[in-house]
Amino acid sequence: MKFGYYLGKDCQIRIFIMQNKKQMNTTKFGINTICAHIGEVKDTQYKGAISPLYMATSYAYDGMDSKRYPRCFNSPNQEALAKKVAALEQCEAALIFGSGMAAISHALLGLLQMGDHVVFPETMYGGAYNFIVKEFPKYGIAFSFTKGFSMEHFRNELQPNTKLIYLESPSNPLMKITDLEMIAKLAKGNDCITMIDNTFASPINQNPVAFGIDIIMHSATKYMGGHSDISAGTISGSQEHMDKIWNTAINLGGHLSDFTVWMLERSMKTMALRVKRQSKTAKKIAQWLEQHEQVAKVYYPGLKSHPDYAIAKKQMSGYGGMLSFELKEGLDAIAFMRALHLVKYSMSLAGVESTILSPAETSHYLLSQEERDSQGISDGLLRFSIGIEERKDIIADLEQAFAQL
Ligand SMILES: *Cc1c(COP(=O)(O)O)cnc(C)c1O
Repeated sequence: MKFGYYLGKDCQIRIFIMQNKKQMNTTKFGINTICAHIGEVKDTQYKGAISPLYMATSYAYDGMDSKRYPRCFNSPNQEALAKKVAALEQCEAALIFGSGMAAISHALLGLLQMGDHVVFPETMYGGAYNFIVKEFPKYGIAFSFTKGFSMEHFRNELQPNTKLIYLESPSNPLMKITDLEMIAKLAKGNDCITMIDNTFASPINQNPVAFGIDIIMHSATKYMGGHSDISAGTISGSQEHMDKIWNTAINLGGHLSDFTVWMLERSMKTMALRVKRQSKTAKKIAQWLEQHEQVAKVYYPGLKSHPDYAIAKKQMSGYGGMLSFELKEGLDAIAFMRALHLVKYSMSLAGVESTILSPAETSHYLLSQEERDSQGISDGLLRFSIGIEERKDIIADLEQAFAQL
């Protein structure tokens, strides 16, 4: 009896079981099964239950077809984990990188060339913003930033040489939502490709390919890793786009070490369990904060009060574990964070532990007060990454910190 996995025409992972030459059964896999199993490396020697780790940097030369080498993104563990990532994003192919920024830089440099123009959103991950404004001019690649997140804002920035539209939705830190379907249509009508930073949603809550987006990026340092101990990134898309990116990626050399690939595979087995719980807790905490008398505003795409709730509902299956909120005028946000015991005041996000930070003090510190004001980032704004702790324990911690203000 033979069996294997394949991507069905409906973009769902299926398993085929060949009982005899005539009979082939196929079954569609659910998200947790994909997380746990797709892309595992078979241990043919000892029949262990998990993927063996191949640290080799030298493999037998057996003709031109198979030149395995870690920097070619084709070591056994890289190739295998890429299948899981591709399956989760319902794409034909994927590549694993040493960080989210390596994923962004390798993909953009692979897809673009001198004379091209790219449209970026008004606000985006700070590292990506720095990469664009500092590196693109060296390559003669032009770019513009939108003045908002609607389709019209993106259309306004299109130029005859626009080659790519880049999105981040939900956006950091105000959880703005862009309509993926509308942007994909706009791009197709103007002969350009679309790329999204899907980190905040994770593949569990949002699959942009289903709405026509071409290239999906993740900082795997966040939900895919999920334990604040792995730095990695992923890109997925059609085989054609991924081949193009691969051709540049092997020259830039930003692959992930096989040991960390193996660690990331372990983390991703529990990703759906973690992210679904984090999303559920985040929604409840967002609702709780919205009722709180010391809170001025809550930003969470799963709240009916969120201006883009309808779009979020259309394109997300869950609303994610990230939210932001503002304290009422006159309340000290920094003092509030320092009063928390369970929730850690720390950088980064998406770990199993809840963390909180002040964008004005950290990610957006280098902007002027005016720039922060125009982007809606007040001193009282806090960005909250919900972990897997019990909701009552998180709320108790928030409550005692509110009481100290
Ligand atoms: C962290 C992050 C990145 C960059 O990923 P690194 O792994 O830190 O390089 C990109 N986009 C978003 C939304 C992020 O949160």
